[in-house]
Amino acid sequence: MSVLQTVKDVLRASTESADRGEGTGTASKGAYWCDDCDERIRDVDADGDGPPACPTCGETMRFERSPSSTGCAC
Ligand SMILES: [Zn+2]
Repeated sequence: MSVLQTVKDVLRASTESADRGEGTGTASKGAYWCDDCDERIRDVDADGDGPPACPTCGETMRFERSPSSTGCAC
């Protein structure tokens, strides 16, 4: 493999990772739940900073962290 090819691979890899971060926008830390209605809204889909109101009953929804986003890979 030539040096030029290696540089291209590095550039392409960095570009792909950057696109993945901005493009999808799925850096979800969890979701908001309404226990009464079983409504669920992901935090990335909720408007504003605070917990959204349940679209069915209007109660403030409860935030629950996603089990897969604890940051521990072991
Ligand atoms: Zn509800």
